[in-house]
Amino acid sequence: MVSVLVYTKPYCPFCRWAKELLKSKGVPFKEIDVERDLELEMKMRRESGRDTVPQVFIDGRPHGGFEDLADLERQGKLDEVLGLAPIGGGSADAGATEEVVILGSGPAGLTAAIYAARANLNPLVIDGLQPGGQLTITTDVENFPGFPEGVLGPDMMDLFRRQASRFGTRIVSGEVVRADLKARPIVLSMGDGTARRCRALIIATGASAKWIGIPGEAPAPAGYGGRGVSACATCDGAFFRNQAVAVVGGGDTAMEEANFLTKFVSKLILIHRRDKFRASKIMQDRVLKNPKVEVRWNTAVTEVVGDGKVMTGLKLKSTVNGAEEVLPCQGLFVAIGHQPNTAAFRGQIDMDEHGYIRTMPGCTKTSAPGVFAAGDVADRVYRQAVTAAGTGCMAALDAERYLEEHQHV
Ligand code: NAP
Repeated sequence: MVSVLVYTKPYCPFCRWAKELLKSKGVPFKEIDVERDLELEMKMRRESGRDTVPQVFIDGRPHGGFEDLADLERQGKLDEVLGLAPIGGGSADAGATEEVVILGSGPAGLTAAIYAARANLNPLVIDGLQPGGQLTITTDVENFPGFPEGVLGPDMMDLFRRQASRFGTRIVSGEVVRADLKARPIVLSMGDGTARRCRALIIATGASAKWIGIPGEAPAPAGYGGRGVSACATCDGAFFRNQAVAVVGGGDTAMEEANFLTKFVSKLILIHRRDKFRASKIMQDRVLKNPKVEVRWNTAVTEVVGDGKVMTGLKLKSTVNGAEEVLPCQGLFVAIGHQPNTAAFRGQIDMDEHGYIRTMPGCTKTSAPGVFAAGDVADRVYRQAVTAAGTGCMAALDAERYLEEHQHV
């Protein structure tokens, strides 16, 4: 049996998912909370070469964080790394045709699962790249009805997950890399080389954070990703105590990240390419009133600079007169919006010019029969948890009707 050690922080959703993944494998592990122990945190950084939690050590060797474990799982290699006998569960499951498969476990996917499970469709949810969706990397959700005091994003997704599981939803990790939406049953090719089949499919794969695409932004060792550059203040904010940190963007995400980071940093520089934010008034006001925040209007970030080990600043350029400068700072949080996760379905289903799936008016039907889309993957306009949940419900009802009407597909 291997020995597994996980360094965590209590508020970090990735830590929670890493622990859940290990638990789902039945692997015992020791957890070390480094939230209030700087010495332990420095030890973790030294020994892993990474600046972020969770950090998983297997038999004393660093194996990265949740994404790294999930990657191994998608490639079918995690069992081997954890010293488990190969069980071939993926391929055994892959033989059966499911009534309905739901891709994605954010508010849309899990609401679809609750409705489909209660309709006795025995849904299978495939978690995808970001289990729990975007809410797992957000802090307070104050606008989801039913939570008058607000709720933490990761906590809300735990509630959704528990509710879906209560009615028998099965949730597995995996990534669909290709889909044959014309085949009957529909065929989903998975990243680990297996295939799954289903009679109806609900795509609720959401959207992923966008990156600026500038030199120095890529993950280490190519750039300063994980060594200063991040897209998740909830996960990494506490590493920047008493430092100067920049946030890029002018939407609600940027405001939320900026506001959260002011709990830790000495100075927060909010960089926006125009002279107006597009964020909601209430969120703008909170940030603009915060004495730690300085806004750089009409400014673009053109490069992340550093000393080879950590980032030390940003190259900035005025979008008005082209003037350039270097801003000394130790962190960059990129919060410039999202792109839909639809690569696996390209060419097989109608999408708009930005890659969002087109649905038919008033329902979640797509151009492919038996395939339904819900949540941010099909919504460029509203993109709220509550609208995602609403369309998730619609997708399950649409799928249920489709299956009733097409009993022989
Ligand atoms: P968004 O509203 O699309 O805003 C993206 C921001 O990034 C814009 O200000 C945009 O600038 C800027 N941007 C885009 N590409 C850029 C680039 N290459 N370089 C520099 N800046 C760039 O995205 P979001 O803030 O992620 O919000 C998405 C949706 O989620 C919205 O509907 C939002 O209301 C919602 N949301 C809600 C909450 C909440 O209520 N708690 C929290 C987060 C998000 P321009 O303005 O110049 O286009």
